[in-house]
Amino acid sequence: MWDFVALRNRMIKEQLEERGISNRAVIEAMRTVLREEFVPADLLGFAYEDGPLPLDEGQSITQPYMVAYMTEALELTPGDRVLEIGTGSGYGAAVLSRIATAVFTIERVAVLAGTARELLRDLGYTNVRVHVGDGSLGWPEHAPYDAIMVTACAPKIPKPLMEQLSVGGRMIIPVGPHPYTQTLVRVRRLKENKYSQENLKGVMFVPLVGAAGWPA
Ligand code: SAH
Repeated sequence: MWDFVALRNRMIKEQLEERGISNRAVIEAMRTVLREEFVPADLLGFAYEDGPLPLDEGQSITQPYMVAYMTEALELTPGDRVLEIGTGSGYGAAVLSRIATAVFTIERVAVLAGTARELLRDLGYTNVRVHVGDGSLGWPEHAPYDAIMVTACAPKIPKPLMEQLSVGGRMIIPVGPHPYTQTLVRVRRLKENKYSQENLKGVMFVPLVGAAGWPA
């Protein structure tokens, strides 16, 4: 069968370290979470390929490099509480959960959320909570969050997510006027009423569908 340890180590070296991912906690999280546990059974051999992989419902599992890049850009510290929008397979939430104290993740497609919730529970990711709903509105019950990772592209930065960031908090979100021309943006809440915004790089994500996202 596949030598996943070797494939994972090679992914870490060639796709992450050689492209500039240097945060040790991020590298360790990428080494600890077994991506093969999150990919569809018929795609196991592609678990460490350098790209996204298809999931049911026309969705996808984010590319390993992009998960690492976005996680590093969130500047997490161990006590952080993180909100993820777009659970998908649960892989991204699992990576975040190895660094943060608690991960709250929202998925609009109920079957994906259900599968990810069971999988994360069975694998022992006890600090991740999965919720079905419209993540463009955030998850106000558990706000504020030290970090928010959005893994689907929004037409503009959803206001509810800005409001659910703690002061000092960071958000990473793909934004595009069109779903196919997207920029990964980092937002920081500097003070109660002061935010900064940086463009990090061009990216390609599925659309964020919701009240503060794209229409269905
Ligand atoms: N982080 C995931 C990537 C999933 S792709 C992983 O590692 O596997 C993005 C996901 O966002 C898709 O599953 C899609 O259904 C979901 N999504 C799109 N709009 C959403 C919304 N408004 N709220 C929650 N999830 C949404």
